[in-house]
Amino acid sequence: MDLDIPTLSVVTSINSLISATSIGMLWLVHGRYPGVGHWTAGAFSVFAGGVIVVARSVLPELVSLVAGNILIIAGYGLVLRGLNLFTRQPRQPFLEIGTVVTIGVAQAVIGLSGAPLAVRIVLLSTFCAVLAAAMAQRFFAYGRAQPFMASVCLLGGSIAAGHALFMATIALLVAFGAPTPSPLEPNPVRAATYFEASLIIMLLALSLILLVTRRLELELGRLAAFDELTGCYTRRAFLAECGNELARIGREGGRCAVVMFDADNFKSVNDGHGHHVGDAVLAEIARRVAACLEPQDRLGRQGGEEFCALLANTGQERAQMRAEELRRAVAERPIQLGDQEIAVTISLGVAISPDHATEMAGLLKAADGALYRAKHGGRNRVEVAPLPAAT
Ligand code: GH3
Ligand code: MG
Ligand code: MG
Repeated sequence: MDLDIPTLSVVTSINSLISATSIGMLWLVHGRYPGVGHWTAGAFSVFAGGVIVVARSVLPELVSLVAGNILIIAGYGLVLRGLNLFTRQPRQPFLEIGTVVTIGVAQAVIGLSGAPLAVRIVLLSTFCAVLAAAMAQRFFAYGRAQPFMASVCLLGGSIAAGHALFMATIALLVAFGAPTPSPLEPNPVRAATYFEASLIIMLLALSLILLVTRRLELELGRLAAFDELTGCYTRRAFLAECGNELARIGREGGRCAVVMFDADNFKSVNDGHGHHVGDAVLAEIARRVAACLEPQDRLGRQGGEEFCALLANTGQERAQMRAEELRRAVAERPIQLGDQEIAVTISLGVAISPDHATEMAGLLKAADGALYRAKHGGRNRVEVAPLPAAT
């Protein structure tokens, strides 16, 4: 079957324009991500280069070839540069820019020397293959470094690698004598090239869009999981984390302590020094407590000036000791903020799994009751919840 070359070339150009526009929309919405602007410029550059190459029957041959090749390779270079920026990988100056200058000069020399069309096709295909291989390598490297991005990077990397392989095959076929008749005549190699370009442009655009979507998902997940002021888990994330940890340690027959704590008389800190100082004090309390925790422990902000820690593999005696440590870490020296010194204390309530409860809800309730008793007992102290049988 002879595929109609003029039709294929028009379809490829339209696909290329649609893909460039889609990436342009991505840039309008998510332009704050480094690299997305380069992808947009790159996609439009490939589109413009493709149109110029397709239209070489109506343009001066040398101009259309040199400009077309420069725009296509600049497009690849820009996409690679954008990928390096987006994934924070080192620049590749020769691949990103050097290839553009090289192909421009080479095509001008080849054009002026009257070398056959095959030489120009081999050159362009080889450059496309090298740049696509570089993109694939950067996709795969990023996927390995960022497991959350692995699936999208596998997709993008495979598409770029497939394109590299295809372009290398075209270069070899033409180099070893595949016929290259004039541009619009039926020709299987050229038909395959247009066909593949149509697919690859859209698939690569899709990969870049998915890359941004996945990054956005990662950022939103972080925003939902971590409290902005203190860096602790948010209440929701803390409960989810602790639920898993409790279940795991419970299966192993271990014990856990839930320590709920609240800043004492915190309203007076705000009233006396201002809300912004209160914020800084809260952040410092969280920092001091976090510094006393072990890697398996978790710290969450329950809301306001109230926090909760899960101490993994900790029974009652040790929990009481460690809660005392947390109390001392906050109370032992005033918090220094510029030239102000603010003395602050916390009250703590402790509950143990499985003694008081095996689920977070029950443990939080018991620890909250103990915290309430610590407040009523004079503040700046630790109280352990009484065992259910003793209440
Ligand atoms: P108690 O010892 O009984 O806990 O007394 P308290 O003053 O700490 O408790 P109260 O509930 O009366 O006041 C809590 C204060 O904590 C009031 C609220 O404005 C302040 N607060 C809650 N969240 C924040 C925050 O994110 N930043 C600042 N600066 N203040 C906060
Ligand atoms: Mg308080
Ligand atoms: Mg409170």
